[in-house]
Amino acid sequence: MTQDKGLQALESKVIAKDDCTLCGACVSLCPYLRSAQGRIVKMHPCDLTEGRCFDYCPRTPVDLHGLHQEVFGRKYEDIELGPLKSILMARATDGVIREKAQTGGVVTALVTFAIQQGIIDRAVLTRRGHSLLPQGIVVSGTEDILDCAGSSYVASPTLEALNREPPDGEQRIGVVGTPCQVLALAKMRASRLEKRTPVGRVALTIGLFCTWALTYKPFLDYLGNRLNRKDIVKLDITPPPEGLLKVFTAEEIIEIPLDEIRPFVRPACGVCMDMTSELSDLSVGTVEGIDGWNTVIVRTESGEELIRRAVAAGIIDDRTLPRENREHLKHASLLKKQRALHALEERGELNGGYLVLAPELMETILSYPTEEGP
Ligand SMILES: Cc1cc2nc3c(=O)[nH]c(=O)nc-3n(C[C@H](O)[C@H](O)[C@H](O)COP(=O)(O)OP(=O)(O)OC[C@H]3O[C@@H](n4cnc5c(N)ncnc54)[C@H](O)[C@@H]3O)c2cc1C
Repeated sequence: MTQDKGLQALESKVIAKDDCTLCGACVSLCPYLRSAQGRIVKMHPCDLTEGRCFDYCPRTPVDLHGLHQEVFGRKYEDIELGPLKSILMARATDGVIREKAQTGGVVTALVTFAIQQGIIDRAVLTRRGHSLLPQGIVVSGTEDILDCAGSSYVASPTLEALNREPPDGEQRIGVVGTPCQVLALAKMRASRLEKRTPVGRVALTIGLFCTWALTYKPFLDYLGNRLNRKDIVKLDITPPPEGLLKVFTAEEIIEIPLDEIRPFVRPACGVCMDMTSELSDLSVGTVEGIDGWNTVIVRTESGEELIRRAVAAGIIDDRTLPRENREHLKHASLLKKQRALHALEERGELNGGYLVLAPELMETILSYPTEEGP
């Protein structure tokens, strides 16, 4: 029998093609796959013809209509920023959180608040290790949540931590993830294969904005050569026209032009259509040109309720997002979609590739006026 939806297919159609996003959705489901040093590694061959590893992967067939039905109860049609109830800018009121966080600390503040309020009991977060190797971790305590604050621009197999949790139980789980992780989570929910993971207990999904993530080993080697292996406290990326990776060490800030980093961007990011984690309850990113504030996209009722309660309790400050920022975000989001579609077209995978999208929708996205579009 042909094996077209199991581990062998995942290997040949995703991993061997360098299309793996390293989201971690395929790991900890069985003894055959592990993550190690920023890679997915096969431990043993598996002859199943259909497997959850293949089904959950964000680079195996993605039916956006079906997934939007699953998460939002309606088909995919909001092509600019995804489903959206409101959009605002916000920041944590707690100075300790803001100090440690990547941008305005909204993610850390909301996760902490959601646990304190009993909205969720635990959260799947990402912790950047000392060697810059990030990993998923399940946390419930305030200090542990704070310990995860800050962005790892190296891709993280975060969903591995969710899969390690017992499938049954009462505890509700929150997940913070990048667009590929949020997409994999939606695929896990929609999958018709036996679940055997706690995805049914995920009660809150906070998605991060993301343009790309880096491959661990070559990036680490590059940084090691540049920095002589000084301890890195934080990484930050500044938007164009500056376009820098800022590396904060205990002694100094080193600025590296983004063009030097691009060779380490995961190839899988080139065909990603999603900049704002469209399949989440809330999406959080930066506000271009306004330091220390987050853009927050509210997508679902539960996301709306969490923001309402957090504002009322004084956990976050909110403001209206300036119109030009909203326009810029829309533009950046559409540009990412156009680039992904062009990349798929170049590979001859606009049809029959991983993305299952009606030709009219592809046409609408491609014809949107952006600086690279018509
Ligand atoms: C790879 C990557 C690329 C990004 N690109 C953009 C971009 O192009 N534009 C933009 O506006 N914003 C981008 N962001 C988001 C931005 O860096 C901040 O995460 C966001 O503004 C939230 O800020 P905060 O202060 O509320 O987060 P914090 O309060 O500091 O919380 C950050 C949370 O992110 C989680 N996290 C960190 N690294 C990862 C990872 N690799 N995978 C999954 N979860 C992780 C941690 O669990 C933590 O809870 C990116 C983030 C990542 C991880």
